[in-house]
Amino acid sequence: MTDDPQRLMLSALQHYAFCPRQFGLIHVEQAWAENRFTAEGKILHERVDSGVAEQRKGIRYERGVLLLSETLGLTGKMDLLEIESGDPLLYRPVEYKRGKPKLEDWDRIQLCAQALCIEEMRATHVTHGAIWYWEVRKRELVEIDDKLRAETVNTISNAKAVLDSGETPPPTDEKKRCRACSLCDLCQPDIFRADRSVKYVSDLYSHDERAELP
Ligand code: SF4
Repeated sequence: MTDDPQRLMLSALQHYAFCPRQFGLIHVEQAWAENRFTAEGKILHERVDSGVAEQRKGIRYERGVLLLSETLGLTGKMDLLEIESGDPLLYRPVEYKRGKPKLEDWDRIQLCAQALCIEEMRATHVTHGAIWYWEVRKRELVEIDDKLRAETVNTISNAKAVLDSGETPPPTDEKKRCRACSLCDLCQPDIFRADRSVKYVSDLYSHDERAELP
């Protein structure tokens, strides 16, 4: 997996939103580990990508659409773009995910970034997108509102800052996420967390010692 140094992959935003360290391991260090979840996700996207464009009941379905935003420095491919007839045309990005809907915005951020690319490429305004969750066979309609847009732009900017720094961030404090993370063996989050605690204590002592100097 190689990243374009000028442009961020759309899928990388979900990595950053889930855990900045996971993003760093994949996109700075180019580490990748497959587990059951990533393998199933890949198979799902291959199935979705294999289709061709079709038209049904006033909606055109375009699959595997290539995306680019010069303004935001993003590139990638979307699973499905629905274009509803009308004046103006209504564009709806649709992303397929293996699991279930989540409280957190990880998936919605990736979807919103797709919407921002579509707006730039087709000179339109996207009001909604959808995420189709394979495990529960559920389609979640997502409003591309100002809050989600701001969160997405912020994630893009933070992820780019990590790429520019070339440094992998520390482990997330959300330890539960590590259980579902394909990179847990490579990441060694507990060791890095322990290192951080040791460094914190040693920094504290060196600070106290400095404070006692005349
Ligand atoms: S194991 Fe935990 S800290 Fe490490 S990359 Fe995965 S989620 Fe982040």
